[in-house]
Amino acid sequence: MSRKPIIAGNWKMNKTLLEAQEFVDAVKDNIPSSELVDTVIGAPALFLAPMAYSSRGTELKLSAQNSFWENSGAFTGENSPAAIADLGVQYIIIGHSERREYFHETDEDINKKAKAIIANGLTPILCCGETLETFEAGKTAEWVEGQITAGLKDLTPEQVSNLVIAYEPIWAIGTGKSATSEIADDTCGVVRATVEKLYGSEVADKVRIQYGGSVKPENVDEYMSKENIDGALVGGASLEAESFLALLNFV
Ligand code: PGA
Repeated sequence: MSRKPIIAGNWKMNKTLLEAQEFVDAVKDNIPSSELVDTVIGAPALFLAPMAYSSRGTELKLSAQNSFWENSGAFTGENSPAAIADLGVQYIIIGHSERREYFHETDEDINKKAKAIIANGLTPILCCGETLETFEAGKTAEWVEGQITAGLKDLTPEQVSNLVIAYEPIWAIGTGKSATSEIADDTCGVVRATVEKLYGSEVADKVRIQYGGSVKPENVDEYMSKENIDGALVGGASLEAESFLALLNFV
């Protein structure tokens, strides 16, 4: 089974609108065909509408970094998946460790968000990953299996085969200390085995799994050469146009 690679930038809470637009202008016509790779930028919600407008008709796809699980209502400060879908955005990152830590998001919340995103025709990029303490205690596999099982609860096999899962060890995010490609591949393998246990081998063969944590142009090839790694979720190295485009050189 050959899975199409997916490289996604996660800008987090960075850039102004002008900087976002300059980035889009610099990359939009220099991205490989979406027959070869899906290329995505996860931008702050405020910038998604103008970015969708200026990247229309190009290979650049967009992602939100979060959404709520209801499509409308009295939820001050939140963005609905319906409103995000309406902008022409295709992906929504959910369950990033920063949201779990600073905004107290639980696996149950993340599961509700996944269902709402899928119901609106978008693709969740579901994040999982362990702390340094869990890693050093040798409990990574157990931890990640628990997060994935809870995050996917009650989804259908077809829904799971279309989603993207990102394995991001917390100790490798923004630290410059990436997981070795062997560790990353092993844990992405644990994610795939968890999907297989829950949904069978056909779904496990289809689901795309990214590694994230200090991925940069210098190490992306090595991750992409691994059997269980189908892409990367990239923070710091996605912020500059030149560096982001260099992440796509493996194609
Ligand atoms: P990083 O961030 O590439 O800066 O380590 C990755 C992420 O948090 O998605």
